[in-house]
Amino acid sequence: MELRWDPILREWIIVSGERSKRPLLPENFCPFCPGSEEIPKSGWTVLSIPNKFPSLRPDPPKPDVKSDKLYRCKPSKGVCEVIIYTPKHDATLADLSLENIKALIDLWTNRFEELGKRDYVKYVFIFENKGRVIGVTLDHPHGQIYAFPFIPPLIKRELESSRRYWKRSGKCLFCTIIEKEKKDRVRIICENEDFICFLPFFARLPYGVHIYPKRHVGALTDLTDSEKVSFASILKRILRKFDNLFNMSFPYMMVLHQRPTDNRSYPYYHFHVEFYPPYREKDKIKHFASVENGAGTITFDYVPEEKARELRNSPET
Ligand SMILES: [Zn+2]
Ligand SMILES: [Zn+2]
Ligand SMILES: [Zn+2]
Repeated sequence: MELRWDPILREWIIVSGERSKRPLLPENFCPFCPGSEEIPKSGWTVLSIPNKFPSLRPDPPKPDVKSDKLYRCKPSKGVCEVIIYTPKHDATLADLSLENIKALIDLWTNRFEELGKRDYVKYVFIFENKGRVIGVTLDHPHGQIYAFPFIPPLIKRELESSRRYWKRSGKCLFCTIIEKEKKDRVRIICENEDFICFLPFFARLPYGVHIYPKRHVGALTDLTDSEKVSFASILKRILRKFDNLFNMSFPYMMVLHQRPTDNRSYPYYHFHVEFYPPYREKDKIKHFASVENGAGTITFDYVPEEKARELRNSPET
């Protein structure tokens, strides 16, 4: 178990040989249901627990391999947590009440704050993988948190471009994108007083929508209580639209992009949520093939404005 440095792409790889030996759970057993193992029987709405098979740990073992100048490695220091969204086994985030989703957002905020305070945590990454097609084996609604000892590469790129834009124009890149999307209108899926959801002009996946707070904030901790209610509401709306699109519980990856927690200041960064749904049409999956994986270039075989309209017209009830 260690972090290995890729000197060509200049990024860390999280190696954890142990994780592939995760035991198969018995059929009909759910470790996240109330009363099983360390999960309290009652008295909770949302819960954060340590990941039983973490790839990052506060007390990582010494790397097995030797580090040298070319092949660097370091201990996998960090934290992996599981966030349980509800005691109800047969639900999804989309089914939960606004109060329940608001409680989840409060928990996300607390975990971001608590984990971010630790000196070895440079970035708190909150996410959800949903659906068997994505490889999720536990149906109980849950998400995860990885508290990284480094700033992940995608975030680094976003920080770099927004820093440059800020320097050049004195404006936030993300705020400017929101303005542009509001002006164009055609890719907006839904919005409320405090949040807006759209399929960006430069969408990477047919249903890869983004959600932004309209106010310039860098992290969950900057949101007011009523903004968090608006956030819960827009989350539920987009998830309902997803589910109604093909009349199925829609699989997705959902990630929260917030400022790093390395004690530097990032006034140019703007918190947002990104979705990575694997479907491109009913019963059709978008596969990342050679051009995406081997060249790092996305191919988008649809018209973003048409995909946005499909989602906008999908019912929310
Ligand atoms: Zn369960
Ligand atoms: Zn902004
Ligand atoms: Zn982002």
